[in-house]
Amino acid sequence: MNSPVRAFAAVGGTPPFIDRAQGCWLTDADGNRYVDLVCSWGPMILGHAHPAVVDAVREAAGGGLSFGAPTRTETELAAEIIARVPAVSKIRLVNSGTEATMSALRLARGVTGRPKVVKFSGCYHGHVDALLADAGSGVATLGLPSSPGVTGATAADTIVLPYNDVAAVRAAFSEFGDQIAAVITEASPGNMGVVAPAPGFNAELRAIASEHGALLIVDEVMTGFRVSASGWYGLDPVDADLFTFGKVISGGLPAAAFGGRAEVMDRLAPLGPVYQAGTLSGNPVAVAAGLATLRAADADVYAALDENADRLTALLSQALTDAGVPHQIPRAGNMFSVFFAEQPVTDFATAKASQTWRFPAFFHALLDAGVYPPCSAFEAWFVSAALSDEAFERIAAALPAAARAAATTGEPKP
Ligand SMILES: *Cc1c(COP(=O)(O)O)cnc(C)c1O
Repeated sequence: MNSPVRAFAAVGGTPPFIDRAQGCWLTDADGNRYVDLVCSWGPMILGHAHPAVVDAVREAAGGGLSFGAPTRTETELAAEIIARVPAVSKIRLVNSGTEATMSALRLARGVTGRPKVVKFSGCYHGHVDALLADAGSGVATLGLPSSPGVTGATAADTIVLPYNDVAAVRAAFSEFGDQIAAVITEASPGNMGVVAPAPGFNAELRAIASEHGALLIVDEVMTGFRVSASGWYGLDPVDADLFTFGKVISGGLPAAAFGGRAEVMDRLAPLGPVYQAGTLSGNPVAVAAGLATLRAADADVYAALDENADRLTALLSQALTDAGVPHQIPRAGNMFSVFFAEQPVTDFATAKASQTWRFPAFFHALLDAGVYPPCSAFEAWFVSAALSDEAFERIAAALPAAARAAATTGEPKP
């Protein structure tokens, strides 16, 4: 197991080992087929093995795997990103979302000369030491407050605040304002389940950071180029100083990016003193996959993603209502998640207060019926544009029994 979220820790059982994938279908080592509602945790908006992406990767690979030198295609990928997100005027490619947020944080500290960072409870920004405190995704699924191996000195510079709580942000800034380098936030969180920012929340963060000379880092690793052609920025345009991107940006190969205002990005080496580097950064094969994915992701693809999310959430909601299971299906563009709860989920505390004990029975009933949902209540569900009528028929057929399983499963004794 190379990443804990895949381990079925919250739902039990042994995960299927996937041999191949095509369109919206996964095939496991035993030949079982599943409708994929995880999409590699976000990247595969076009579906798997999309011909334009596979051809681009084959052609790039045939021309050499890595040069350790500048290429034209990495500049084209940068231009594609900058064209979609006007608040980004310079960009640097890295190898993972973790590297993107780690580097953005170092840059913010280097530019401001300040040590502290504000993050929100339930947000996940990769496994960066300073950002693991009260994090979402696998850290939430495994119920870890933080991680051993992160030193006290590192943790002491991280201020963790409740999500969607502007008053808490103001209070932290009035106490530590001159020591805070940056506020980092998920553009719209998808790692404590999907919890959209309250209207104006990101804009408030922008205003507060500016008042105190701190930078705003908006993490679009999950939302970027998925929820719209310009990511969350397309739905809620707040000009952060720095943005981070990953997942969709590299079409399923390992690449990610951070970028933003020129004056900030110019402080990176070689122009400036803040060091950041990578042997494989801007890798030509990963860049080819990313460029082909973004170029194929036209208005029809984004419309299909939204329609598929509408269709899927309607099916889920109907089945759970019919079975009498209390549920919330919060949306952020075409991302959503399923909480078994009576009350709306607005932050990590309300997410954790949901009836997560219903999730394993629901999950396994779907999996047994050939539908592959995320294996934790704290993870987003991801649609692709490749979901077919056949796939929706399979989901519709599987849902009533899965909803009944969620309804009848026993609450664990305290
Ligand atoms: C997935 C994710 C990351 C980490 O990206 P990796 O490529 O897994 O390192 C960071 N931030 C957000 C919001 C993510 O969803």
